[in-house]
Amino acid sequence: MTATTYLWNPPPVASLPVRGHHEHLPVNRIFCVGRNYHAHAVEMGRPVDKATERAFYFTKSPQTLVPSGATVAYPPETNNYHYEMELVLVIGKSGFRVPTERAHELIFGYACGLDMTRRDLQLIARDKGRPWDLGKDIEDGSVCSEVVPMPGVVIEQGEIELEVNGEVKQKSDVSNLIWNIREIISDLSLYYHLQPGDIIYTGTPEGVGPLLPGDHVEGRVEGVANIRLTVGRSGHLGTS
Ligand code: MN
Repeated sequence: MTATTYLWNPPPVASLPVRGHHEHLPVNRIFCVGRNYHAHAVEMGRPVDKATERAFYFTKSPQTLVPSGATVAYPPETNNYHYEMELVLVIGKSGFRVPTERAHELIFGYACGLDMTRRDLQLIARDKGRPWDLGKDIEDGSVCSEVVPMPGVVIEQGEIELEVNGEVKQKSDVSNLIWNIREIISDLSLYYHLQPGDIIYTGTPEGVGPLLPGDHVEGRVEGVANIRLTVGRSGHLGTS
């Protein structure tokens, strides 16, 4: 058997540190749940009626991951760069059409994430019926903490909070998720064969807002982890 060779070095595998392990967790895909806290759905002008609506999702490239503690450039082509503090669910086993009562079997653990958003571009796309990629799939725009192994554990509550320059901007509880952890796994597995290394940003509570160069963000989910981010000047990628 001949090993495949490449014209140039393939990009590095996107990965996250894991608490208590030397090995990193290789990331396969990044899924994000849209509008999963009522008060955030309302602030975005699109309330959710769970009785008649299904959850919806968008994706971000694994190459957009950046570790907690990084300084990232203020991204191009936006004047409204927003934070979204989220609980991140990490999948450790494969599954397809998983019933809610078995959803916990796929859980490897959790992390804290910032689903960074070019809000101006996202809203233009939303209102024109275009894809969200330019608003969401941003270089260095998927901030993630270390992964905390919690195999089979379904998180049902815990304070979720974000501060900008020491001022609380987002404060809610994971119990306010519209679609909970079991429902997210079960529903997403109707569309995708979930695989180890898939990570799911579960949605942000109310209080999203803009960041400016020099701003320092700190967030946490009770019982999981903390996350930090500093926004630098435009065009100065801080991580490489
Ligand atoms: Mn989000």
